[in-house]
Amino acid sequence: MRFGIIGYMRTIRLFNTLTRRVEPVAPLERGVVKIYNCGPTIYSFAHIGNLRTFLFQDLLRRVFAQSGFDVRFCVNLTDVEDKIIRESQEDLPQDADNETRLKAMRDFTDRYEKLFLEDLNELRIQRPTYMPRATDYIPQMIALIEGLEARGLAYERDGSVYFRLSGFPDYGCLARLDRDGMKLGVSVDADEYDRDSLNDFVLWKGTKAGEPWWECKWGKGRPGWHIECSAMSLALFGEYLDIHTGGIDLVFPHHENEIAQSEGLFGHRWVSTWVHGEHLMVEGEKMSKSFGNFFTLRDLREKGVDPIVFRFAIQSNHYRKPYNFTFEGLNAAESALKRIRVFRRRMEDQNAPGGGGEFKELIAPMARIAQARIDFWDALCDDLNTPEALAALFTLITDINAQDDRILMTSEERSAALAFLDETNAIFAAWPHESNSLNQKAEAMIEARKTAKTNKNWAEADRIRDELKAMGIILEDRKDGSVIWHSQ
Ligand code: AMP
Ligand code: ZN
Repeated sequence: MRFGIIGYMRTIRLFNTLTRRVEPVAPLERGVVKIYNCGPTIYSFAHIGNLRTFLFQDLLRRVFAQSGFDVRFCVNLTDVEDKIIRESQEDLPQDADNETRLKAMRDFTDRYEKLFLEDLNELRIQRPTYMPRATDYIPQMIALIEGLEARGLAYERDGSVYFRLSGFPDYGCLARLDRDGMKLGVSVDADEYDRDSLNDFVLWKGTKAGEPWWECKWGKGRPGWHIECSAMSLALFGEYLDIHTGGIDLVFPHHENEIAQSEGLFGHRWVSTWVHGEHLMVEGEKMSKSFGNFFTLRDLREKGVDPIVFRFAIQSNHYRKPYNFTFEGLNAAESALKRIRVFRRRMEDQNAPGGGGEFKELIAPMARIAQARIDFWDALCDDLNTPEALAALFTLITDINAQDDRILMTSEERSAALAFLDETNAIFAAWPHESNSLNQKAEAMIEARKTAKTNKNWAEADRIRDELKAMGIILEDRKDGSVIWHSQ
């Protein structure tokens, strides 16, 4: 099927978890698409499963951006929850004051935020437009809970506040819960739980000894996990969202609870399209530290895996199919990537060695490139079908390689092939492959700028910053004196 271009924008169809159908996305504001993505809990390194979800979100963003949309893209950072509190507070004395506790939690999560940003850089995941931290939105969370209380949808018990599920009949519409077959009305404090009963989930948790807290009308406490996303999304995007994403495990209870909170407050539909990425498994098993099959990007690098090969392996698979991570799978991705890079070199330099394909028939290169381009975008616009999109690219490569010595491509034809490779690279970000040398050069320049600053040579420091900017690298000076960078 062919999908046309409306105005300057392509029509993009996505599988909507809410309706269980592939549907065209029609943003509320013409040309602008507002996307909220559940991001990482910053308490340890992201594992490659998490990274798969962040890569799926990056793919979604790039497809919209390359299809003419102004994409407003939010990835939140969860920087307060049980595990973070436990690990950040364990070295503090029992009588530590609240300010010390909050600072310890901030310092702890700052570290993992930085590592998360490094992962994004390594994987060429574009920096989100917004990257809010939950603890910067506590007043908004409290206001939201007060709003729910005023509507009879929240109640306080022993210093904690819960959502009243019996007041929200739509509960379960995303996960398609069988409400009649479930028990009603137990209130739970845990952020995650099973789907055998309908629980009044926690919005605000009254404080326990040894925990950091914020003050509100219900006393000292901290937000539950689910309220964080509802509040940050409301603060940044208002009452309507075009797309909300996350990994498939978040459908229930997290996203179901987000819907209850937001729609309970607004009194109308909040998100038009819910999109969920399938999980990554390792050798067919769920990843787990105790199984010894748990990997971070750092682990892969130590095993000699190029992060861009990992990126390409993930993006070659459909986001709605479970991905079985294996090292053989990475080898296959590396070979495929090599084929594209060799082809690119051939298009740049007509003296480069031939493609080595077997001749079948003479083709008209310009017409073949135009067809590949149509097939590529048709596939991506049809629920981000990356395997089909890549098939369009590889068919073109095979056909052109098979011409070999029969025809010599004109420079116009080679430029058209190169332009198409650049267009596809705006989505896949994996060819050509200058990442390592670019990374090394950028790191060396950042070091040189640090030295210039230490020597109070501000002009030199500014000059290096500008030079990096010209290379497409943006620097950010952090409060702790460190510098992080990302590509434009
Ligand atoms: P977390 O840091 O635990 O809050 O998770 C961040 C994101 O990773 C969420 O969107 C999860 O749904 C997603 N996620 C967790 N495990 C996996 C996995 N094995 N494969 C893909 N995504 C995952
Ligand atoms: Zn969320």
